[in-house]
Amino acid sequence: MTLTDHRRHRILLIEDEPGLADSVRYSLEAEGFDVDVADTGVAGLEAARRLEPDLVLLDLMLPEMSGLDICRQIRTSSDVPIVMLTAKDSEADKVTGLELGADDYMTKPFSMRELIARVRAQLRRATRTGVLSETNEVLRGGPVELDIDAHVARVSGEEVELRPKEFELLESLMRRKNRLAARHALIDEVWGPSYFGDTKTLDVHIKRLREKLEDDSSNPKHIVTVRGLGYKFVDE
Ligand code: CA
Repeated sequence: MTLTDHRRHRILLIEDEPGLADSVRYSLEAEGFDVDVADTGVAGLEAARRLEPDLVLLDLMLPEMSGLDICRQIRTSSDVPIVMLTAKDSEADKVTGLELGADDYMTKPFSMRELIARVRAQLRRATRTGVLSETNEVLRGGPVELDIDAHVARVSGEEVELRPKEFELLESLMRRKNRLAARHALIDEVWGPSYFGDTKTLDVHIKRLREKLEDDSSNPKHIVTVRGLGYKFVDE
């Protein structure tokens, strides 16, 4: 698996035809993309700034503000890949769009398969050229490395298998590295605020984590007990 597979790409679709917007959204979501739709130029430009999408699909004919204006505006501050969606027979618009910095265009009507192929090609190119970063979030402390996006835990470079709740608990502890992680906060985050089960569950999971992460789990150096309050992940 490549890194790209771990991260969902966010695509902004700026399109005012509801039927087309729905089918594009549906097709992209079925391929694992996160999709936001804006149906006017103004809303689209605002969404492009706020959401920082990985790719923009941009209809040329929009109310309020044309696709070409949006393209020009986005390009003043961003290198995000832009694929224009153009009506038939608007060769001049395509040329202008590419001159304004769009990366590709598709002529309506287009097949969803073709659209997805173009989207993937643009995302690959953007990743290669460094426009999109594919860096996973990794928490580090002591010998422990927790790759959040890949959902992999390593101790001294060796992969360690954690159960889902163990992983979440370790993440909660490491996000508070060298600070108190109160019992109720850990239970809230890992088991949910409506958890009314045995609070010993927390201690059982801590014990299992220590067995997997500590050199000597009866004398823990990294997941230490803060008596009466909770636990602390100590980075040393
Ligand atoms: Ca339109």
